[in-house]
Amino acid sequence: MPACYQIRFADGTPDVEWFGLRGFYYEFLDGTQIGLRPTIAWCCNCQQFIDAEWIQSLEEITNELAELNDPTSLRASLFTSNEPPFDESPYIERMAKLYMEAKDEATRRIEWRRVRHSPPRCLICGSTDIRFPADDQTIKIPGRGSAVVECTGMCSTDFCNWFYTPEGVRIPRETQPSYWHFPGEER
Ligand SMILES: [Zn+2]
Repeated sequence: MPACYQIRFADGTPDVEWFGLRGFYYEFLDGTQIGLRPTIAWCCNCQQFIDAEWIQSLEEITNELAELNDPTSLRASLFTSNEPPFDESPYIERMAKLYMEAKDEATRRIEWRRVRHSPPRCLICGSTDIRFPADDQTIKIPGRGSAVVECTGMCSTDFCNWFYTPEGVRIPRETQPSYWHFPGEER
């Protein structure tokens, strides 16, 4: 689920609330896809806060697969819980399928990371001239001073359904955003 942020500018301009989006995917030449992980950044080209690619280290994503393969890990327990109702059909089968897909995606993410060359891009315009928050949540905006981006929780925003090459370049394609609802609340 995307994060939302309160942004406080050092130059005294009013605070801004910012909501992350989701539904971004890398698409490979064979047509298969994995989720693209977005995070907040400032884009010097768009001149605004945007969703940018979050490119983790190879070590981090390799650890994710190791955790998934360890049934005692927290990451694996999301898929291996046998608490009711997950101890009965069709949940057992559904969870087993999701677990397999998660391991498959983690494996593919490692393969992707090994060959990824470009620095992270803005998901709106594709620019690599972007600034991420430092460890203290401060982000330096060229020509405007700094801002503090404080994560205030999670938000349930639309799925953009935008597709990117493995190097983070948007694939031009007409898509419609989709929406997530609680089961039974689909409109
Ligand atoms: Zn941009």
